[in-house]
Amino acid sequence: MTDVPVRSVAFDLPAVGHPGAVGQAWARVPAPLSAPQRAAAAQRVRALLARENAVLVAHYYVDADIQELAEASGGCVGDSLEMARFGRDHAAATLLVAGVRFMGETAKILSPAKRVLMPDPQATCSLDLGCPAPAFADWCDAHPDRTVVVYANTSAAVKARADWVVTSSIALELIAHLHARGEKILWAPDRHLGRYVQRQTGADMLLWQGACLVHDEFKGAELALMRAEYPDARVLAHPESPASVLAQADVIGSTTQLIEAAHALDTQRLIVATDQGILHKMRQRAPAKTFLAAPTAGDSATCKSCAHCPWMAMNGLAGMIDALEHGANEILLDPDLARRAKAPIDRMLDFADARKRPVRASGDLARDGALFQRVGPA
Ligand code: SF4
Repeated sequence: MTDVPVRSVAFDLPAVGHPGAVGQAWARVPAPLSAPQRAAAAQRVRALLARENAVLVAHYYVDADIQELAEASGGCVGDSLEMARFGRDHAAATLLVAGVRFMGETAKILSPAKRVLMPDPQATCSLDLGCPAPAFADWCDAHPDRTVVVYANTSAAVKARADWVVTSSIALELIAHLHARGEKILWAPDRHLGRYVQRQTGADMLLWQGACLVHDEFKGAELALMRAEYPDARVLAHPESPASVLAQADVIGSTTQLIEAAHALDTQRLIVATDQGILHKMRQRAPAKTFLAAPTAGDSATCKSCAHCPWMAMNGLAGMIDALEHGANEILLDPDLARRAKAPIDRMLDFADARKRPVRASGDLARDGALFQRVGPA
């Protein structure tokens, strides 16, 4: 894959006490394949999955053909927590993780005896990049009286420093639980999600100032203009979006919850403020509805503002074949680091299992609004 062109990506690089610095990273997005090439490659991946006793675990934000391949081959498409659980519980000896690096690491942490492969392990995340482990450790050391809670979009090294990892519906419940116990929180890395949770729970939270480069680009002013143009539309937003966007949302929720809301709400037109990769699953669940990507601002020709993660786009069929054929791109972690990173994940999973309750939408927004407003991100 070395001949794939590399694109430059700018992202927030918060330094403690100096938020707003800009970091530079890169992404190499495979060239699109023709329809016959895609079909042949997908067939090859299926044969290799069978040969390697492997299962494909994909995120909602990867390309539609990879999502379809995952489902058609007996794998899973889901949010990061669903991916981790599915991989952990599946009998396959090899997990092929189509997503970004922290998802591969989480799979390895939860399934240390399995081989974890990725189409391109250099696929990263601006939240992960914006929260380097040494600086994060210094921040934790400066606040020893606080409980450390990190979002799943972090490296294994950052997770290993945390008391809790959170994802999906458990973020609000967990912080409310810790707040009720009188604990003060250190939260990392997403500032928008942290502020949303803080406002919902009233907890005492210090926030790391990271952001997702996709969600951070959604603009409240442009969204207001779009809503004026489509007054019948309802707005679905992921809580990694800025507060000005969340303030206009009819439903705030995780990827899984937004897909459910798209199906359940009794409206024909939906404006969606999250990575546009999710639209594939939303169209499957609600084929008669119209989905509009929420507006971003700035230079729309750059991947920074196109509402599609440049690193999720690095997942391609050629990389999957390379990984399965040659065992390339294996995720390996220091066993001691993995053990320390597993403890806060297990704590979260145990907490979630103890409080597990089904989330069902009735289609009545007045009723479901409260339901979805209590749902955290994936
Ligand atoms: S969409 Fe945002 S949060 Fe998700 S992997 Fe990409 S940069 Fe990270």
